[in-house]
Amino acid sequence: MLFTPSPPSTPPKVLKRRATSEPTSPSPKKPLADVDTNRSSSPLTTSSTPKLPPVPAKPKQGTLLGFITRKPATARPTKRPRDDELAEKKVKPKRNEQLVFTQGTRQTCKQCNMAWMRGVDDELHAQHHSRVLDGVPVTKAQSFSWTLATSKPLAKGSAAIYMADYTAGKVTEACDAVDRVLSAATLPTEVREKCKVFLAVVGTRIVGVAVSQPIKHAMAVIEDSGDAVKCDPKRLPTPLGIHRVFTVPSLRGQGLAVAMLDAAAGHTVYGRSFKPEEAAFSQPTEGGRKLMRKWGVTRVFEEDDQ
Ligand SMILES: [Zn+2]
Repeated sequence: MLFTPSPPSTPPKVLKRRATSEPTSPSPKKPLADVDTNRSSSPLTTSSTPKLPPVPAKPKQGTLLGFITRKPATARPTKRPRDDELAEKKVKPKRNEQLVFTQGTRQTCKQCNMAWMRGVDDELHAQHHSRVLDGVPVTKAQSFSWTLATSKPLAKGSAAIYMADYTAGKVTEACDAVDRVLSAATLPTEVREKCKVFLAVVGTRIVGVAVSQPIKHAMAVIEDSGDAVKCDPKRLPTPLGIHRVFTVPSLRGQGLAVAMLDAAAGHTVYGRSFKPEEAAFSQPTEGGRKLMRKWGVTRVFEEDDQ
């Protein structure tokens, strides 16, 4: 990673991750991990995760929690039993111990990483589980109302990458879901109005989301570690800001996140196309920083300073 030494006179600025704006499930929350750490997908943001109880299992790719709260669960009944079974299988009792699952038992799904109360929040878990692993459902009519930016060949088939405004219903739903997965605060309305959203659609699912915005300046990252990145406070003229990036786990490693970023670089500002060096991420998570390096970004920006 390219880090620029900071000028001796100005102390580095430390950007910490911002706290999630809203809790996800009625049950005690667990921290969401960074999504997509070693592949292409998810960047972004930051939110300092509140101190929560330790997560039993090491989240492998994505964390989930999310998509849950706003909509009262239209969970698909056919999937729920299977999810529960899978979750139950993962929680193996230690030797000489017996686990008895009763209503109200709190457990964590290792696939979607959501902690929920069995028998109480099962529908929330089923809905979240499906969205995290399979994507947010969308109809062709809904996706056809967006602008087709490009398409990305995948190992099987291809993804259509659409550009849309943040205001449309399905777009907002997908973005809200991503915010929860990334444990990121919801963007203020005035910021959303300046954003473009790039949605990767395969079949009838939104499987990837990138949120971009024209910005004015950003700061060079000089060090990143843990939950914070250290930046040179000098403001550098920077035209493109990336707020969020997320790809469902099953499609990571196929270049989908980079394809969405390329689309954002070429379409966020009408008539202009930017290079990765002209872009900045908003306080990225660990996974986000990996994506930054992969795409060639060395700057970060503050969402409320544009
Ligand atoms: Zn799950």
